[in-house]
Parts: sequence; C-alpha cells; structure tokens
Amino acid sequence: QSTEPWRDFHRWKVYTADLESALHYLLRVELATHNTLEGEELKIFKDFVTLVAKLYPGGGSVVKLMETLSDWLLSLPLQRIPYQAVLDLVDNKMRISGVFLGAELRWVGCQGSRTGLRGYPCSLWTLFHVLTVQHDATPTALENTGLEGEAAPVLQVMRRYIRTFFGCEQCGRHFEQAASATLDRVQNREDQILWLWNQHNRVNYRLAGSLSDDPLFPKAPWPSPSLCSSCHEEKNGVHVWNQDNVLHFLRQHYGASNLSPKYSL
Ligand code: FAD
Repeated sequence: QSTEPWRDFHRWKVYTADLESALHYLLRVELATHNTLEGEELKIFKDFVTLVAKLYPGGGSVVKLMETLSDWLLSLPLQRIPYQAVLDLVDNKMRISGVFLGAELRWVGCQGSRTGLRGYPCSLWTLFHVLTVQHDATPTALENTGLEGEAAPVLQVMRRYIRTFFGCEQCGRHFEQAASATLDRVQNREDQILWLWNQHNRVNYRLAGSLSDDPLFPKAPWPSPSLCSSCHEEKNGVHVWNQDNVLHFLRQHYGASNLSPKYSL
C-alpha cells in the first residue's frame, strides 16, 4: 500500500502536479546518477532543458526555472559540468529569486495503487505528449534554438534523453528500436503527435498483464471508448482507430487548456 494520501482526480484531465513531479524527479534523482555531464550527454541535457523552456505550457515557475537553467547552460564555456552545479542552481540560486521547483513528488493522474507502480514513467510519457501538442500549437516556439531544423524535434530530444538518461535501460532499448525503425517517417507536427500516441499504445499492448501493470490502471489501448468514442470504429468487423478523431482528442486532452493546477504548488 502507498503511504501517500489518495488524491482525487479525473481521467480526462492532465495535472501540472504530475508534470512538475516529473521534472523534480528527472533533475534531482535521475540526473543525480551522473556525476558530471560532458560531451554528448551535456548536449542532450541542454536540448531537453531548451525544449521544456520553450514548450512547457502556461509560463509560471517551471518555465522560469527551465529558462534560467537553459541560459546558464548555454552561457557556460565549459565542456564538462558537475551535476552538483546543476543541483545548486535548481535548489538554491533559483529560490533566491522566488522561482523554484517543488521538492517533493505529488503524483495525481500518475499515482499508483501502491508504491513502485506508475509515478515517474507515467509522468514522463505525459510530459512528452504535452510537448508534442504544444509544439503543434506554437510552431515557431523552437526558432533559433538549433532544434527548429528537425522534422520531429520533440521526439528526437525525447529519444536521445530516454536513450541516455532514463533509468529503465530496457525501456530505452525498446524505444530506440522503435525510433530507429520509424521516426524518419514523421514529416510534420501532426505526425509527431500521432507517432508518440501509437508508440505508447504499442508499449501498453506489450506490457498488459505484466508486473508493472497497476490493477487499478490496467494497460489497454488508449483512449478508451469512454474517453473518446469517436476515436473507435469498426470496419468489416475489425476495430480500427479514426486517426482524425484521435488527433483531435489528443490536441484537446494534452492541450494547455486541459491542464489542471489542482495539487500543484
Ligand atoms: P503509462 O503507460 O505510463 O501512461 C500514462 C498515462 O498516459 C495513462 O494513464 C493515460 O492517461 C495516458 N496514455 C496511455 N496510453 C496513451 C497513449 N497511447 N497515448 C497518449 N496517452 C496515453 N516499461 C516496461 O516495463 N518496459 C518497457 O519497454 C517500457 N518502455 C517505456 C518507454 C518509455 C519512453 C517510457 C516513458 C516508459 C516505458 N515503460 C516501460 C514504462 C511503462 O510504459 C509505464 O510508463 C509504466 O508501467 C507506468 O504505467 P501507467 O499505468 O502509469 O501508464
């Protein structure tokens, strides 16, 4: 059983508390396993921070923190940064200016029925779905970042981040396999949203019934008919997705106006 109090939530909302907890975990736990960041790792981390600074919806503390972190990383002439310096910035320097990231995990849409289930991996998927939708809604946001030339910048940054830093190495290998097989087919921002949705469903399918499956949140094709009935169709007795309606649903579900600040700092 989880010792955390249960937080009531709606499955049709996305919670900023999950997104903030994702960044908290990523910056203070996942990254902490790397004593120094250098070379390719440093570049991948910088790109991730830039992506979030430019595409995280709604402004506020998270964007200010990521902008400050991004400016600081880009201004450093160093090829090698101790992780402690990143942590100092996140923990202390930012607090002086009143901008800080919650120092605890508050899972809401990503809470599990017991400790060890859901949480961080759920929030990382959620964060990247939000970023694909936000990139579509604000197509010029990545101008002058060095990422604007990529056909699928959100997925490329995600791919590199997952491959290099994500604590679940087996997940990283699976994701890399899928990306190297099909990511070059993604031509535009709509494909980018749908590619991630489809890839996520493939993972759901593979993991259904496995140990990581939370009995309260069994893995299944998503969105369920109760979330989006028009996403589902039947052709010649076979279930098919209506991709136009799925795209419409994803834009709405992961769009800025569907983010709930409940339980957020
Ligand atoms: P998650 O799958 O984490 O989903 C989170 C939320 O996203 C759901 O609650 C739902 O609201 C929404 N959602 C579900 N499906 C979709 C979809 N298709 N499109 C959009 N939104 C959706 N675990 C392994 O054991 N093996 C792996 O190989 C593996 N690979 C992973 C690769 C990546 C990139 C990531 C981020 C995680 C991976 N994981 C893997 C973890 C696993 O996918 C789940 O994140 C974890 O088991 C927690 O599951 P969950 O029930 O919270 O739902």
